Amino acid sequence: MYKMEIQSITDMSLSELEALCVSIGEPAYRAKQILSWIYEKGATAFDEMSNLSKNFRKQLEEKYHVFQTKVDSIVQTPDGTEKFLTHLPDENVIECVLLREGRKITACVSTQVGCAMACQFCASGLLGLERNLTVGEIVEQALHVKNHLQHDERLTNIVFMGIGEPLKNYDNVVKAVRILNAEWGLGIGARHITISTVGIIDGMHRLAQEGIQVNLAISLHAHNDLTRSKIIPSNKKIGINNIVAAAREYFKTTRRDISFEYILIDGVNASKQDAESLARLLKGVQCNVNLLPVNPVEEFHLKPPSQETIEMFCKTLEKHGLVVTLRKRKGDDINAACGQLRLQRHKFLWKKEELFVK
Ligand code: SF4
Repeated sequence: MYKMEIQSITDMSLSELEALCVSIGEPAYRAKQILSWIYEKGATAFDEMSNLSKNFRKQLEEKYHVFQTKVDSIVQTPDGTEKFLTHLPDENVIECVLLREGRKITACVSTQVGCAMACQFCASGLLGLERNLTVGEIVEQALHVKNHLQHDERLTNIVFMGIGEPLKNYDNVVKAVRILNAEWGLGIGARHITISTVGIIDGMHRLAQEGIQVNLAISLHAHNDLTRSKIIPSNKKIGINNIVAAAREYFKTTRRDISFEYILIDGVNASKQDAESLARLLKGVQCNVNLLPVNPVEEFHLKPPSQETIEMFCKTLEKHGLVVTLRKRKGDDINAACGQLRLQRHKFLWKKEELFVK
């Protein structure tokens, strides 16, 4: 049984854990031993940490958790994609996706319970925002994935593209990135970590100043405010030109290319004219464009364009000198579009509640 008020080790930086060890009367180097058990050896309980004294383990056990979350179920598709549905201490549920592309193994993590951005292609927007995830709740998603891999597999990449707007949970996300990146943590190179945003301008400016070489992906999905505000209602307060300006600034400060994510939706943003206008908007921005046909979401009646239209869109951007990647939809069978599995679970719960009411 989890206790919400108890902190977990996965919330802590090395220096915080060192201070904790010293406060219990143990030497500071014990912190690295504990972290090595968790991040290297995959320990999930203090009991497994055999080089710590029984008394020290007992003291830790009484006040702290190693993990604060628990994997509820894992759903797999034939393409190797796996979706982890994870219970939080307050009984909320989040999801994380494991993606395999050859030797590249990526954990796609969530940063909030629900989301306030209400993107029109995303099931999570339907549920609204409940709360930010803690540092440990973010870090543990990657740990659950790592601990689930086969012996000859290695977690190589982390993308903050699950449920939630990462830059609206800025402090916890940046601390989680530092833990995932640290030698004493998961040791994932910053260049293999990507933070995705709908374009939170102050967050983009702050991130540029952090001195961490993470990739920034911006969910653009349109070339003008009229269409973008329909797809992403929060755009009304942001404005597409401000986003492109902040992207230029991010590159100037970090020298890291920006990725623009563009979900192709039939009849909305996928015509030849849309491609031409997008190319004009991004002219001179050091970037690449990731195109992805929309995942059909039952509630929104959105569908992807034909293969012919997708290829036309791609070629039009390339003709204008943009670097374009056409991404394949992965995990359709398990509704791997952002938030869909959680939504289905909620529907199931709602149905159950209706039954109870009757
Ligand atoms: S796509 Fe991302 S930012 Fe938009 S509503 Fe879904 S979770 Fe939120």
